[in-house]
Amino acid sequence: MNAFNPSQFRAQFPALADAGIYLDSAATALKPQAVIDATQQFYSLSAGNVHRSQFAQAQQLTARYEAARDQVAALLNAPSGKNIVWTRGTTEAINMVAQCYARPRLQVGDEIIVSEAEHHANLVPWLMVAQQTGARVVKLPLGADHLPDINQLPSLITARSRILALGQMSNVTGGCPDLAQAITLAHAAGMVVMVDGAQGVVHFPANVQRLDIDFYAFSGHKLYGPNGIGALYGKAELLDEMTPWLGGGKMISEVTFDGFTTQPVPYKLEAGTPNVAGVIGLSAALEWLKTLDIAQAESYSRGLATLAEDQLAKRPGFRSFRCQDSSLLAFDFDGVHHGDMVTLLAGYGIALRAGQHCAQPLLAALGVSGTLRASFAPYNTQHDVDALVQAVDRALEILVD
Ligand code: PMP
Repeated sequence: MNAFNPSQFRAQFPALADAGIYLDSAATALKPQAVIDATQQFYSLSAGNVHRSQFAQAQQLTARYEAARDQVAALLNAPSGKNIVWTRGTTEAINMVAQCYARPRLQVGDEIIVSEAEHHANLVPWLMVAQQTGARVVKLPLGADHLPDINQLPSLITARSRILALGQMSNVTGGCPDLAQAITLAHAAGMVVMVDGAQGVVHFPANVQRLDIDFYAFSGHKLYGPNGIGALYGKAELLDEMTPWLGGGKMISEVTFDGFTTQPVPYKLEAGTPNVAGVIGLSAALEWLKTLDIAQAESYSRGLATLAEDQLAKRPGFRSFRCQDSSLLAFDFDGVHHGDMVTLLAGYGIALRAGQHCAQPLLAALGVSGTLRASFAPYNTQHDVDALVQAVDRALEILVD
């Protein structure tokens, strides 16, 4: 692994030539040339499907595809590639747990505790399964520091508590709750814990065994990989207990008109031809990530977010929703609508996001209808911070009387 070098790192992202000032990596990360090349090579050079055909190329492809599971397992310190189920992303992974694990088990009156900081992807699937089963979703509120208040967990846990759904890192505040504490409390009550790793994985992939995480989900596209591919980690015994929600090819071992028997996990949860190109691209991203000192890159991008926060804080009416040191900076200006500001910023070539960030309950708890969000990645530079601040100044001149 090389020491982190910002300009060498940046040079690997061809999209930066055209993307203007890209401050939207929390929505999706740009792709390095290594991932683009691997994806292109897959479509240009490979022939055959995985897990089906006998000819050499198809067999080689299957071996590469399966080896990528081991790479994900290594990233998360999972016991084996067999703990990794391919999904389209975090959203699908959490829905899979809700429908395939929780739905067959939940009884009327059972409780699912969900933190108020969650992205809709880690709330709506639980609301849906609650509607389907008669279970109840219980809110774990934010504390004064805007992190989910884990200290309230003991008073929320009852004899009917079954599942805790908690994000590793908020996509708005950047806050990272104490997962270890939450998991210990939930496990003491016999609950199963679903951790949404969509934002956290690129900054500090969770060590699922050390934290004793039951289920962990992430998306490839936030980890410099392709869209449409992600993974669900599950403890072997929990994956085994899951009832497949999709039926079809490759998830079965025997089929008659009277019924079917399933393959072992992870295959029983992966019906149909998978996103092989996505897996190959994600595998390339994981291989390429080994060349990066993630800790150094992380402190570099946090430094940029802090610089932006410090600069913008000199402008009247500035408010930051950053609840911890992170590479995300959600902010607004008193009396300025985030929608007006983002439209002007877009016109000045600044790519960032404004709105509710798929986290309406969190925004309601923060008491705002929306925020702007600049998210920094290791390919950003101080020049990007300066460009953001200058563009905000231009916008403020227009928007503030
Ligand atoms: N959780 C969080 C915290 C996220 O930031 C996102 C993506 N914005 C998701 C879940 C959903 O990820 P995806 O859309 O890739 O499924």
